[in-house]
Amino acid sequence: MRVGIGHDTHRLAPGGVLRLGGVDLPFAWHLVGHSDADVLLHAITDALLGAVSLGDIGEFYPDTDPAQRGRDSGEILRETLRRVHQAGYRVANLDCIVFAQEPKLGPHKLAMRQRIAEILGLALDQVGVKAKTGEGVGPVGRQEAIMAEAVVLLATDLED
Ligand code: MG
Repeated sequence: MRVGIGHDTHRLAPGGVLRLGGVDLPFAWHLVGHSDADVLLHAITDALLGAVSLGDIGEFYPDTDPAQRGRDSGEILRETLRRVHQAGYRVANLDCIVFAQEPKLGPHKLAMRQRIAEILGLALDQVGVKAKTGEGVGPVGRQEAIMAEAVVLLATDLED
């Protein structure tokens, strides 16, 4: 078995929509980034790459590469999953935390889990998504940024 951890931060800027976990959420602010800035999918991507010792998302998808501009992070995650499979591993489960003061993510957690499971070809019960506020302090609490963390467990002996 292999374990991987991922973390990402993106700044918020005025104007919707907010893409999080592959889902477009109605919100008056969006995340700024070279790709679609999906902070949650980036954290999951880094967790997968880390679990197979392949480095990080910036090595494969540099923000200086014009081809990555506006890129769908779901595609990046799917490509990363192929690298995991090529390394001989399958995803056993993953767990994530999104840190956002606003919007309230409770009503959207299921949709994000469903989308992540769909991208990765997993069952819903293999994907956990939790949401935390910044308690009004720090860059998350001041609504300057949204952060995400992910932990993934890979195994070699899973049945297809
Ligand atoms: Mg990112």
